[in-house]
Formats: sequence, C-alpha cells, structure tokens
Amino acid sequence: MVPTPENRDADVVVVGAGLAGHAAALAAAEAGAAVVLLEKGESYGGTSAKAGGGLVFAGTDLQQAAGVDDDEDALRATLLAAGGGHADPATVEAYVDHQRATYGWMVGHGVRFDYDPDLQPGQLNRLHGTPPGHAVDVLHARVAEHPGVQYVASAAADRLLRGDDRVTGILLDSGAELHASRGVVLSSGGFTRSDDLLAVFAPQWLPTTRMGGDHNTGDGLRMAWELGAGLADMSRIEASFGASVPAFPLLVDPEGGEPTLLFATTQGAVVVNRHGERFVDESLSYKKISSACVLQPDGLAFQVFDERVMRRSQPTPGPADFRRALEEGRVLTAPTLTGLATQLGLPADALERTVRRYNEGVDAGVDAEHGRPVVDRGGPGAARVEEAPFYAYPCRSGLTTTYCGLTVDRRLRVLDVWRRPIEGLWAAGEVVGGFHGASYYSGSALGKAAVLGRAAGLDAAGVPPVGTSAVGTAPADGR
Ligand SMILES: Cc1cc2nc3c(=O)[nH]c(=O)nc-3n(C[C@H](O)[C@H](O)[C@H](O)COP(=O)(O)OP(=O)(O)OC[C@H]3O[C@@H](n4cnc5c(N)ncnc54)[C@H](O)[C@@H]3O)c2cc1C
Repeated sequence: MVPTPENRDADVVVVGAGLAGHAAALAAAEAGAAVVLLEKGESYGGTSAKAGGGLVFAGTDLQQAAGVDDDEDALRATLLAAGGGHADPATVEAYVDHQRATYGWMVGHGVRFDYDPDLQPGQLNRLHGTPPGHAVDVLHARVAEHPGVQYVASAAADRLLRGDDRVTGILLDSGAELHASRGVVLSSGGFTRSDDLLAVFAPQWLPTTRMGGDHNTGDGLRMAWELGAGLADMSRIEASFGASVPAFPLLVDPEGGEPTLLFATTQGAVVVNRHGERFVDESLSYKKISSACVLQPDGLAFQVFDERVMRRSQPTPGPADFRRALEEGRVLTAPTLTGLATQLGLPADALERTVRRYNEGVDAGVDAEHGRPVVDRGGPGAARVEEAPFYAYPCRSGLTTTYCGLTVDRRLRVLDVWRRPIEGLWAAGEVVGGFHGASYYSGSALGKAAVLGRAAGLDAAGVPPVGTSAVGTAPADGR
C-alpha cells in the first residue's frame, strides 16, 4: 500500500516501524501532529520484534518496590563508563532526560515489565524485561487506534526530500512523494542485513549469522549520509556469541529458520571448535567470545556442558532456557562425551582429551590454556564437566544489532559532519550512533529505541525540549 492522494501530506513522517518508530509516531501524534509511519516490510516490528526484551531504566517503581536505590545520576555514570570515554555525552543525556518518563508512558499504554533485582549478580540490575515483541505489539495497537497516525506497510522510504535548507519529506521506492511540514524521523534500524555496508565498516562480521530485522539494510543511514550527516561508532560494531545453527550440520538453513541465542557458558559450559579444541576463556562476555568464534573453522563452535549446567536452565523464554532448546532440537544430548562427539561430527578423542584437561585445570585451580577463572566449583562458572548426560549446542557468532550510526544532538536532531543540525531531520533507535561508545550496556539498545524514539517524536512535533516543559515527567495517566 502506498499513500493515497489524500494522505500525501503529514506534519511528521516516521521511517521504520520498530520500537523506535512506534514510540516516535505515537508520541508525535499525542502531541497533536499528523503522522505517517512507514514500514518497508509487510509487517511491523523489525529487530525489536525478535529481541530478548530487556530495557534499561533507572529509578522505576519496580526498582523501588524491590528496594533498589537507583536514579538518573547513577545511570548516566554507568552509561558513560560502559562507553569507555567514547560515548557522546549529549546522546547519553537525551536518554537520561527521557528514560523515566518513557517508562511511565509505556506502562500507561499497557506495556508490562518484570524486574528481578538479582538478575545480574554483582551489579545493580536495570534490565526491565518484556516478552519478545511485547512492547512493540502494545505500541502498535495504540498506533492503530490513534486517529493522528497513519501506518503504511510495504512502503520503503528511498530518499529524503530537501528544500529551502531543510528536509521536507520522503521519496518512496514506489516513486510517490510524501511531504512532512515539520520533518522526518529516521527510525529504520541498523544494517545487519547489508553486506555492502558491513564490508565498509565491519568486514570482520561478514561471516556471522544475521539476526536483525529482515529489512534492516541501513536505508536511513544512507539517506542521511547523502545529506552530509555525521557518523559515529562505525568501528565499534560487536557480534554476539551463541547464535543457533537451525539446520545443523548444515550451516545455512534452506528453510530460512530463525536463529536464536543461548548462553550456557555463563553457567559453566566449555566451548570447542570443529577440532574438539577449546579456543577461548569462556568467562568472557558473549560479545568478546564472538570475536574468537568468528575466526574458527566455518565460524562454528559448540557449547558443551553436563547435567549440572542443565539443572541451571531458566524456565523463562530466552538465552538461559536450555531445556526448551533441548526440546526444540537446538541442543543435542548423549550419555557419553564420545556419543556426543559422534553426533556433532567431532573427533571423539580430541573432545575427550579437551574435557579431561579442562577438568584437571579445575582441580588444580588454574586454567593454564585459556585463563578461565576457576573460582567457585559449586556455583556458576568453571566446574568439572563430568555429570552425564552430556549436552552440546552448535552455534556461531550472530549479528543482532549494529550499535553505530548517525550523529544527533540532545534533541535527537541529526547533525551534519560539522555537527550542525540538519533542519527537519531527527533520528532514533539503532540508526543513531554515539550512544554506546566503546561497548554496549546490556538492555540499552531496546531502551535507546523506546526512549530516543519517544523523545524524537515529541521534538519533531514541536514539544519544547526537556528543561523548558514538563516533558520529563510522566503524566498521571502515563500518556
Ligand atoms: C535476538 C536479539 C535479541 C536482542 N535482545 C536485546 C535485549 O534484550 N535488549 C536490548 O537492549 N537490545 C536487544 N537487541 C537489540 C535491539 O532489539 C535493537 O537494537 C532494537 O530493537 C532496534 O530498534 P529500532 O526500532 O531502532 O529498529 P528495528 O526494530 O529494527 O526497526 C526498524 C524498522 O525499520 C524498517 N525499515 C528499514 N528500512 C526502511 C525503509 N527504507 N523504509 C521504511 N521502513 C524501513 C525495518 O523493516 C524495521 O521494521 C536484540 C536484538 C536481537 C536480534
């Protein structure tokens, strides 16, 4: 469907209907703007519909109810520290400005969050969980019933229209033009599905399993880049270790099965390659392990574990639900390591030897080969792999998100290469660069979509920035 002659004019056009686009479109419409929300695919959701579902918020009612003391200052410090001195303070500030109000706004619209203060042992937990796709589904229902938003699927934005030194609308790939009196919000996600952009910015991740939205080919990035937009964090893309191989032993699934993530390493699994040999300290983050995995033969690895680890499976959908992965055939099992190796097509003697050496290291208290800390034999972490039955999860490095993109200011206006705002152009969500800096703080990518999306929508609709209005405070009804 393309816009009809009746709807070729809008106040705000939002490009891309993931979480950022829905938040932007709904917030702009609530502020009184006439909004068109464009989606390239046949259905909405993008990467946001596939995501695990944890969003970073600080100072929420759920934290307070759990007795967790947290606030904006602490969040700012954490985000800047995670960025390792490379995160753009203005973009971080935009998140800090709007995060608490966005949380209240989402709850007011019916998004349900759960919160476990002990989810991340040893650190203050800010992850507010939602079932996969739940947040974008709820906001989509609100968008559908709001008279101020027209949602148009199968309508790809192709170019930004520009006149009188400002962005004035969108040229669709159908050739139709869509005019936007106030401007355009780019929320088209990242470029996990674009080989040509990856070849330029992150060729090391070309051999990964692609896990982002099916249509995330960096269109918004290219459109703004054409107009002179600045780029940030382009060299800092990271992949995630633990992407399933749906048609194993085939590396590419002819049926196009959807890969998912599993992290048995956090509970004590060892990781071996096709030769049955370890190649990494498994206590590293899934981001760091992915860098080592992609260098292995076929970029393939196996998380090997025993019944002790299986008992730590979490019954909630996600990367810690090992039992569900077993039931679905993503995890294989055998009574012996030799039997497991046969199923996996690994040399059995090598796998036996690797596990024997690993167990000797655990007994000695030193992992001489890869330096995995051997700290707590009873708890998660390094422990002997010895309790039958044994399990293995074939996996690769998956590219879920690209984390980098357009430079923006605190109001989410896109900045050009000289850091001047491009009038009439905003960006939000994964297409924004500069927010994460050196590394991703878990849950801040979905958070960035929701928080910056709503903030960009408000600004595009003409709501005065935080500090000059009540935007930073959640209205009583959350809307
Ligand atoms: C398996 C997985 C698990 C994840 N888990 C988490 C997590 O727990 N916590 C977290 O913080 N992050 C997580 N992430 C990352 C997070 O999901 C993304 O960073 C976030 O969803 C990006 O949201 P977005 O709205 O910016 O982009 P998207 O949700 O990708 O939406 C972009 C939309 O734009 C559309 N589009 C693209 N080009 C055009 C065009 N030319 N015209 C019109 N429309 C266009 C796309 O089709 C898409 O629908 C995960 C990602 C994956 C893959």
